[in-house]
Amino acid sequence: MDTATTGAYDGVRTAPRALATEAVHAGRDDLARQGLHAPPIDLSTTYPSYDSRAEAARIDAFATDGADPDGPPVYGRLGNPTVARFETALARLEGTESAVAFASGMAALSAVLLALPHSRPRSSGGTSMAAGLRHVVAVRPLYGCSDHLLTAGLLGTEVTWTDPAGITDALRPDTGLVMVESPANPTLAELDLRAVAHVCGPVPLLADNTFATPVLQRPAAHGARFVLHSATKYLGGHGDVLAGVVACDEEFAGRLRQIRFATGGVLHPLAGYLLLRGLSTLPVRVRAASANAAELARRLAADPRVARVHYPRIGGAMIAFEVYGDPHEVVSRVRLVTPAVSLGSVDTLIQHPASISHRIVDADDRRGAGVSDRLLRLSVGLEDVDDLWADLDQALCAAPERPVAGSAARDTAGTGTA
Ligand SMILES: *Cc1c(COP(=O)(O)O)cnc(C)c1O
Repeated sequence: MDTATTGAYDGVRTAPRALATEAVHAGRDDLARQGLHAPPIDLSTTYPSYDSRAEAARIDAFATDGADPDGPPVYGRLGNPTVARFETALARLEGTESAVAFASGMAALSAVLLALPHSRPRSSGGTSMAAGLRHVVAVRPLYGCSDHLLTAGLLGTEVTWTDPAGITDALRPDTGLVMVESPANPTLAELDLRAVAHVCGPVPLLADNTFATPVLQRPAAHGARFVLHSATKYLGGHGDVLAGVVACDEEFAGRLRQIRFATGGVLHPLAGYLLLRGLSTLPVRVRAASANAAELARRLAADPRVARVHYPRIGGAMIAFEVYGDPHEVVSRVRLVTPAVSLGSVDTLIQHPASISHRIVDADDRRGAGVSDRLLRLSVGLEDVDDLWADLDQALCAAPERPVAGSAARDTAGTGTA
């Protein structure tokens, strides 16, 4: 996939360029003309203007369609040139017109939910309520906090959970969004994005592409209108930036910029710089970490202490696996691998989703979505694969092996996750 050329959107350049080339050059097209090599970091919060009539016109224009103002950004909450470089580059990689960056993946998802049109107000006993709920159809599993945000209805959404086959029946006239992840966090369950986009019809589909990255999959090409990333993960790639981004058409991007302006979930310019830098090695990192992960998945699948291994058909650097023994023991015994939540960094991390990343999801809902109490999630990094295996092997050491036929398999995890 990394040799594919990028982008349905070709408004800026003429010859399509390969993903690896875009990863290094997109968002930097003007630098040589400016006599620069590394992109500058613009830390300005405000921008001087002696012409307040022109500034008023720029603010009016932003209020109309959320387009990036011509000229300086007025104020840091409207936009930032360094962050804009990352947005331009990510849009190129995902093949969308635009992208809008936020302070975190959750801020990005929140902005999408807030930007959805309200359904018609419902009337109750003659008085009509201020605003209708926004109806969302979603497929589990999702990242734990995304699940929580929808389930709790914190942003005035009402959610119908379903499996991919049930989407058609779950859609209502007032459905504003269908949300999926593929491969999903943490089980790595995959779904056919093209088929899902087809059944959504006119209802926009949001695909969380955090796990696959545009190196392995570009959901917009399959019909997703919104592509969400926790840029904290592979896009940043070094565990030192918290960020989110939505790749989409320019019309929706304008709405997202207006929401970002009004709610304030902006990305810091230094984070924008680090993300642009992260993108330049994204294809190389994802390919190398995926090769490690594929090999570790193979060794885990052959190991008698491991009950199940989930590794996506499209590949990637994430593995989920279930052990016969106590998963907490494995987490406590790793030495080279870091026991920590999050993923997508150059180093390998392991965590127990039922205790950490998906703790906030109701236990029955979590198990119903295939997140067993025995599941461990491994984010494979760029270390030597034999060193990684040696560490996993010793961490699994105490785990019991596959039960012999006839004896009952233990089907509950160790303590502490109830
Ligand atoms: C981490 C994650 C998020 C949330 O992103 P933050 O940057 O932590 O706010 C959303 N979706 C997926 C799939 C994630 O892994």
